[in-house]
Amino acid sequence: MTNQLDRAATWPVLTDATRAALREILVHGVLSRAEIARALGLSRASLTRAVRTLQEHGFVIEVGTDVRGATGRPSELLRTSEGVWEFLGVKLTQDRLYAAVTDLAGRVLALHEETLRDPSPDALVQQVAEVTERLRAASPAISSLGVSVPGDVVTRDGVTVVEVSQFLGWRDVPLSSMLEARTGLTTFTVNDVDALTAKEHWIGAGAGVGSMALVTVGAGVGFGLVTNGEVSEGAHGRFGRVGHLPVYGGGPDCGVGHEGCVSGYLPSSIIARNAGHDDTSYGAVVDLARAGDEAALEAFRDAGTALGVLLSTVVTLVDPESIVLTGDGLPVYDIARAEVDAAFRKGLRPYEPAVTVVVQPFEFSEWARAAAVLAVRRLLRF
Ligand SMILES: [Zn+2]
Repeated sequence: MTNQLDRAATWPVLTDATRAALREILVHGVLSRAEIARALGLSRASLTRAVRTLQEHGFVIEVGTDVRGATGRPSELLRTSEGVWEFLGVKLTQDRLYAAVTDLAGRVLALHEETLRDPSPDALVQQVAEVTERLRAASPAISSLGVSVPGDVVTRDGVTVVEVSQFLGWRDVPLSSMLEARTGLTTFTVNDVDALTAKEHWIGAGAGVGSMALVTVGAGVGFGLVTNGEVSEGAHGRFGRVGHLPVYGGGPDCGVGHEGCVSGYLPSSIIARNAGHDDTSYGAVVDLARAGDEAALEAFRDAGTALGVLLSTVVTLVDPESIVLTGDGLPVYDIARAEVDAAFRKGLRPYEPAVTVVVQPFEFSEWARAAAVLAVRRLLRF
């Protein structure tokens, strides 16, 4: 076991040019040396040095030559290697842990999920460490860990801290350093919606677009944004916290004193509660609504209106090319589509065209994959 774990390489210090060359290859899949040099404005000598470093560390391999270049001279094609650098992503929810092992390019190599035994920080670090150890036994090339949490993540004096997570019941938890001490792996912690937005921007629905908004519905309501080709980040780790946007005045209290905000209607447990059921019975309330139960339908219609208001607010504020909608709460878009569309339309100016909503089928493994991709992005600084 120890020998196996020792095989994991430590991420080397790379020059800016070397990192940029690797990013280019990752983003494009396969590139010739000539294309990389052109894209980055590198001299032949600098490119040769960068590629040699990438090959020495096992990041890229040559896969033939390309003679399409303007000069007609053959140029070696490069792509990322497999099996040398692997990454573990962990997505935490209130009650479950989802894990994905990926390669450098974000391709999924293994998936795992289990129930969270105890969400308190020490117990959770112990459980993540155990999962990491098991997955590393099968994937010894895992070199870093990305963890995505439902909560606000900030950096204070160089230390990453989960400032607040209502779902996990946390305040000020230095999760990255706790996990690094326990696993020995470089660890990055990020808000779950921010991680998913970054992944969609790189290798998902938002790949190649200049602006994209991501809205997630489920236990919570999330919002992420790509604008001018970059993932937007707030100043205090609280970017896009749209869960408490007002929908109607005078509606139900959301729990923090607002009356009629998004969180009074749209979270899955609130839909169940508003339908007159236990707040853990969301799946059953979805079934009731589909079977025509009036109380369940009413709760979904209100949730649909809240979602439509949210979508129109997003369009009004950021004018995205498209909105990607995903999350385990997607049944609301199906059951209450008429209410979503009506409120969305009503929130816009009458002469504005609607913005396309791209529904992304929901899988938690994609959130875990996003956490692994986050580790790659942080290491490559993009
Ligand atoms: Zn509220």
